[in-house]
Order: sequence, then C-alpha cells, then structure tokens
Amino acid sequence: MSNILELNDVTIRFGGITAVKELTMNVPKDKIIGLIGPNGAGKTTVFNLISGFYKPTEGEIFFKQEKISEKSTHEICGRGVARTFQNIRLFTNQTALENVMVGGHVRRKYAWWTIPLCLPSAMKEEREIRRNAYELLERLSLAEYADELATSLPYGAQRRLEIARALATQPKLLLLDEPAAGMNPQESLELLDFIKEIRSEFDLSILLIEHDMKVVMGVCEHIWVLEYGSLIANGNPHEIQKNPAVIAAYLGDE
Ligand code: ATP
Repeated sequence: MSNILELNDVTIRFGGITAVKELTMNVPKDKIIGLIGPNGAGKTTVFNLISGFYKPTEGEIFFKQEKISEKSTHEICGRGVARTFQNIRLFTNQTALENVMVGGHVRRKYAWWTIPLCLPSAMKEEREIRRNAYELLERLSLAEYADELATSLPYGAQRRLEIARALATQPKLLLLDEPAAGMNPQESLELLDFIKEIRSEFDLSILLIEHDMKVVMGVCEHIWVLEYGSLIANGNPHEIQKNPAVIAAYLGDE
C-alpha cells in the first residue's frame, strides 16, 4: 500500500514554542485517516505545514513521493492538496457559486494577464469553470444556494460549501479541519456519510482533524494522536480507544 503523504521527522518552532516535534507519520492512498489530540496539541499546525502555510524548522514532507515542504501554498494546492479551515473561511462578498469557482481557478491554464491575447479560449475556460462549479454544488446538494451570498447559507451548508470549494481544485488529498465543529449530533452523523461518499466519488485520500469522537471512530481507518506536538499513539479506532496514553491525554478529558 503506497502512501500519498509522508512526514519525516518534522519539527516546527515558534520562538521558544515547539508546536510540532519530530513528527513522522503518513497517509496511505485512498484512506480516511484521523489526526486527534487535545487542544493545542499541534494538529492545525500540521495542516499548515502540509499545505505550505508554514515551513518546517526541521524535517521533510513528501506528497506522492515529491518533496513539498519548501514549496508555496499555491504550488502544493496545484499538485493536489486541498484543505478546509477550523473556522469557516468563505469569501463573504461572493455567492456560493463564485466561492466554488475560486477553487476551479487554481487549475486555470490562462492567467488573467494572458486573457487579451487568447480571449476566446480564456472565455471558454471560464465557462467550463462555472459549469464544473455548478455541478459540484449539485453533487453536494447546494445548487439551491448557487446565487446566494455564501455567508447567508445555513451553517451546515457553509461547511459543505467550503468542502465544495476545496474539491473544485481537483485534490487527491483533502485535509479537513474539524468539519463537525458547531454541528448538532444529527448533522455530525450525516457528515460521517458525506465524508465517506466524497472519498469514493472523488477518489480521495482524507486526513481529518476532529474532536467529535463519534465522527472520528465512525469514519477513520487509522488514527494518529498528538499531545504537546509529539506523536503519542497510532492505530485503528479500536486500538486507539483502548490505548492508556490516549485515554489519559485526550479521551479522559471527554
Ligand atoms: P485545537 O484543537 O485547539 O485547534 P491544535 O491541536 O490544532 O489545537 P495548534 O493550533 O496547532 O493546536 O497549536 C499548537 C501550538 O502551536 C499552540 O501552542 C499554538 O499556540 C502554537 N502555535 C501555532 N501557530 C503558531 C504561530 N504562528 N505562532 C506562535 N505559536 C503558534
């Protein structure tokens, strides 16, 4: 089984704080993998490292066997890594459709400064991006909101819209940062099915940060556990639930 993502001995320090320490972990292709740990354990920092927002102080990150830890966020996204954020970050003055189109523009061949030279092709491409974005809204049951301002959507729909925008970049690896945050138990259960559906429909590998243990245990095939920036355990959901270090560090706080 090949790994789509590998972190080798990754450390990041902010002044005196070591947010992630000598972390070695991987995400196998086509799997849904969990990344859990108490508040401040370093989970979002790991996402920021993978997606290029932060550069490791030490260590290396590989995506599809290519070293990405020195690349820009744009280059990493272009290679097939997309993410959502813990606090929803939609473009507030744009419609739902326009938000998803932004994701599609990552794949655009014609940059804006070339448009005067290749107007018909660029316009055709823009129409395709719009059509693809609308199809994504349909597939994620968001089409009814296409022309609504993104921030006027119900909360659960905004969460799905963020995922739609990430999917528009045509990722191979999707990083989901606490997608169940703010959801009620029923919405969380629906999210479980939704994550499984998009994994198979879009042929994705998924790395999931989540505090909702029902979601984590219900959807993840393997789980990595962080505490104070260091890996304290990894295993399948059954093993993780029984692991004394995990119970003490995290599940014990539930
Ligand atoms: P939560 O579950 O609460 O979201 P987390 O596991 O995602 O927590 P991080 O947000 O990754 O934790 O934070 C880990 C540590 O790194 C924290 O102590 C945080 O303050 C620190 N940290 C993260 N980014 C920075 C930064 N840019 N500058 C300074 N410290 C940072």
